[in-house]
Amino acid sequence: MLRVEALTKRYKTGDKALTDVSFDVPSGQVVGLIGPSGAGKSTLIRCVNRLVEPSSGKVFLGDREITRVGRGELRRVRRRIGMIFQEYALVERLTVMENVLSGRLGYVPFWRSFLRRFPQGDVDKAFALLDRVGLSDHVDKRADALSGGQRQRVGIARALEQDPELLLVDEPTASLDPKTSRQIMRLICEICRERGLPAIINIHDVLLAKMFVDRIVGLRAGRIVFDGPPDALDEEA
Ligand code: ADP
Ligand code: ADP
Repeated sequence: MLRVEALTKRYKTGDKALTDVSFDVPSGQVVGLIGPSGAGKSTLIRCVNRLVEPSSGKVFLGDREITRVGRGELRRVRRRIGMIFQEYALVERLTVMENVLSGRLGYVPFWRSFLRRFPQGDVDKAFALLDRVGLSDHVDKRADALSGGQRQRVGIARALEQDPELLLVDEPTASLDPKTSRQIMRLICEICRERGLPAIINIHDVLLAKMFVDRIVGLRAGRIVFDGPPDALDEEA
């Protein structure tokens, strides 16, 4: 589970991006993070994966304080956090299978032979994940031959390949049509519940969030202004 305690971030420019933000995400719960542009959503996600250093406050993943680990350990902590991106961030010239396996490396391989270094167990696992996201017939296709929805399915499988303890998802449907967006949101939320994986989904589309997530955290000007079940959002809005 993830715990965010009194997180505050003030950038050097003086912008106060987060003020005293606290919440927990238990195992298997999907939190939809909503709020207008500039509310602090990206900053919050970046404090959790330590791309941004908070000014004060703490973030715990399980009983490990993420905000305290040193440089050496940071790489290992990041590997416990699966990321899914708006623009998928696939390697176009690699196949679907190679893209998923690259989730194990933590870097983008430059040549294909890297695949041979993976034990059969990893390949089997990648195949099972591709099957789960509905891509078992496309494992040997190059990423650049896929539709947007298929690309995001690869992104999901790649994030899971590293056995994350937390999923951070940044606007996963921003480049997809409405029907595909619903399929992708449903898939991410179902998988998190199946695996008991906590997740934060940074999402612009409030209606889409309400359809699938377990809980909504609303940010405005760096503060939490709503935290509750999707149904309760109407009364506030
Ligand atoms: P989004 O709305 O998707 O968060 P933005 O357009 O707000 O994207 O931000 C794009 C990039 O610019 C991000 O990397 C963000 O950290 C950075 N950024 C946003 N606001 C500022 C700012 N005031 N000064 C410097 N960088 C900023
Ligand atoms: P959101 O993701 O909700 O659009 P952000 O976290 O990107 O919000 O931004 C929150 C606030 O922090 C905004 O006022 C933005 O301008 C500022 N900000 C974001 N990134 C940076 C940055 N790298 N440097 C300075 N200010 C930033």
